[in-house]
Amino acid sequence: APDPRPILDLFRIGGRHAVVTGAAQGIGFEIAKGLAQAGARVTIADLNPDVGEAAAASIGGTFEVLDVTDVAAVAALAARLPDVEILVNNAGIVRNTPAEDTPDDDWRAVMTVNVDGVFWCCREFGRAMLARGRGSIVSTASMSGMISNHPQPQAAYNASKAAVIHLTRSLAGEWASRGVRVNCVSPGYTATPMTKRGLDTPEWRATWLGETPMGRLAEPFEIAPAVLYLASDAASFVTGHSLVVDGGYVCW
Ligand code: NAD
Repeated sequence: APDPRPILDLFRIGGRHAVVTGAAQGIGFEIAKGLAQAGARVTIADLNPDVGEAAAASIGGTFEVLDVTDVAAVAALAARLPDVEILVNNAGIVRNTPAEDTPDDDWRAVMTVNVDGVFWCCREFGRAMLARGRGSIVSTASMSGMISNHPQPQAAYNASKAAVIHLTRSLAGEWASRGVRVNCVSPGYTATPMTKRGLDTPEWRATWLGETPMGRLAEPFEIAPAVLYLASDAASFVTGHSLVVDGGYVCW
């Protein structure tokens, strides 16, 4: 049946409980802020309580210390917050090492946070969503899951983000008929603490700007509306999608 709501109301998520991981700073914080402005009750779940507590307070949300790689902690949080309808898997890390010199621990750290962490959260928060027959999951993947960034070497990161995009498709297929949509956003270069090293490295900076058709990096707030769209009823028939927000990078 047609939805009687005016189109902008489809973006409202009033009263829904949203958990955003890795949202003490950077892209995650802007996503948390945007979801709060759209009416959600927001929980920021991050490793870093020093920054995270203040970040949550500034948007009227709550803070939970969480390491997404700690599956028992993820399960415990999901059990304590059974009403979560929106999960944003945003926590992620990068390591820049030439492939042939990549230490085992760097490879594992990237995969553990960026892939395992996303799956643990999907599995643990997804159960209650499936039981309720309603939920929306949005992960922060990356354009790095579609192209191999350069000049900085980051094979583990690129592989991890490709995994997030395909995990998204896989879960979307499994859960589509049960009311749970699973999507991701794939940002291009975005000005956050994560990219500071690159911006401070003249060769990296020149390549990043030169190869982004818009000639600049994204600001973190420019990623949030894409997440809101996918999280909300505006995307009621969208699942398994990777929404690229990259200033045209992957087109070139
Ligand atoms: P950031 O480093 O500024 O922030 C990452 C946040 O995640 C921090 O608050 C950190 O404490 C938290 N975090 C790290 N490990 C965690 C863990 N194990 N458990 C819980 N929280 C953890 O990074 P950002 O640039 O804002 O990136 C956010 C997401 O966007 C990441 O998944 C990143 O891969 C992705 N991304 C970033 C860019 C970019 O150019 N900045 C581009 C594409 C995708």
